[in-house]
Amino acid sequence: MIVMKFGGTSVGGADEIRNVAEIVKSNLVRKPVVVVSAVKKITDRLIELANLAKEGNGNEVFSAIKNVHHGILEELRLEKNLLDNDFNELQKAVKSVNGKMPDAKTLDLFQSFGERMSSKIVAAQLSKSGMEAQAFNAFDLGLITTSDFGNAEPLEEAFSNLDNRIKKMKFIPVITGFIGKTREGEITTLGRGGSDYTAGIVGAAINASEIQIWTDVDGIMSADPKIIENARTLTQVSFAEASEIAYFGAKVLHPKTIIPAMEKNIPVRVLNTFNPKGNGTLILNEVEKTKQTVKAITSKRNITLIHVNSKRMLGAYGFLARLFDVFYKYKQSVDVVSTSEVSVSMTTDNSKNVEDIASDLKGIADVKISKNKAVICVVGEGMRNTPGVSGRTFSVLGKNKINIEMISQGASEINITFVVDGKDAENAVK
Ligand code: ASP
Ligand code: MG
Repeated sequence: MIVMKFGGTSVGGADEIRNVAEIVKSNLVRKPVVVVSAVKKITDRLIELANLAKEGNGNEVFSAIKNVHHGILEELRLEKNLLDNDFNELQKAVKSVNGKMPDAKTLDLFQSFGERMSSKIVAAQLSKSGMEAQAFNAFDLGLITTSDFGNAEPLEEAFSNLDNRIKKMKFIPVITGFIGKTREGEITTLGRGGSDYTAGIVGAAINASEIQIWTDVDGIMSADPKIIENARTLTQVSFAEASEIAYFGAKVLHPKTIIPAMEKNIPVRVLNTFNPKGNGTLILNEVEKTKQTVKAITSKRNITLIHVNSKRMLGAYGFLARLFDVFYKYKQSVDVVSTSEVSVSMTTDNSKNVEDIASDLKGIADVKISKNKAVICVVGEGMRNTPGVSGRTFSVLGKNKINIEMISQGASEINITFVVDGKDAENAVK
């Protein structure tokens, strides 16, 4: 069995969905299990709807969402009433907001309709193209999650639930990406872009022979092609390389996708629905050795850099524990860290809680916050045990007068990560 996940652009309209059906059809021998995202832009619209519903004026957005889906049904000549239930339920959700600010739980409920509707359309189109298919909400197949609305994680039992349900099927399941349910039956989401993660979870659950992520680019690239004209599609990357690239770079793949795949050593392939003959990028545990030391250079903007200084750190124990405890308290994840004897630098990719964190830390350290920074990441397995890569990297930056505000290299030695000012990001990558 293989998992085939199709993203929002890949199911963005009638033509695209027809194309998806063809792609699935040509993989029938491999027993596909399909996972889908919401139709392109619908998740954004559903969030907008939830926020507008509070003021009682979501009618326009509601109609727009309805029209997009009706348009697709009509063009594909599918059953007109296929999604009536969903529209009714969405309408109910709108009514229930009733002047209240939508909380994370309500937002998850709203967002869930995107995948609930797209899965039904895709399943209907597969059937129309002569395949036996059926749409499923992932939670009806046992994808239960924690109750971290907006960022839920699958519970251990989700894996065996999914395995038991899917293995018995004699047809192609078309499963909602992105969403789950708590044990109490409340709908959750796995975080924006989380359909990839669902594909990873389902793939690990059924022990798939491959997890395919079908998107709108040819695979993982050596750099952002908007910055580097001759950026290339990478043929193979390791799980370790892919995690660094996915987190600090291109949004080709949700960073969590590969965690379940990695645990079961299932290859993940990133493919282009608009160029289905391409080989895409294959992500594996161990990749063929190449002469290349650096495989990819990524950048991530809108980073907040936090410098923490404390004389008390000198020779003391427990300082880092206290420091990170504050981040824990605010559920703020830290991405890059670098430390000296008396100071620590950290980055976060949102500045939501940094003021609160700084004020909590006042008692033990001086804190300096700088926004609009960029993390640049130089990645490649070949960098391990190859001298001179950081020398070359930093001397090029020096020659170009780009100031480096922080440097870090992880234990795996497959990346050099550094922070520059946002305005220098493009030049640094170049
Ligand atoms: N539809 C969700 C989003 O836009 C999940 C996904 O597309 O992966 O974030
Ligand atoms: Mg997506």
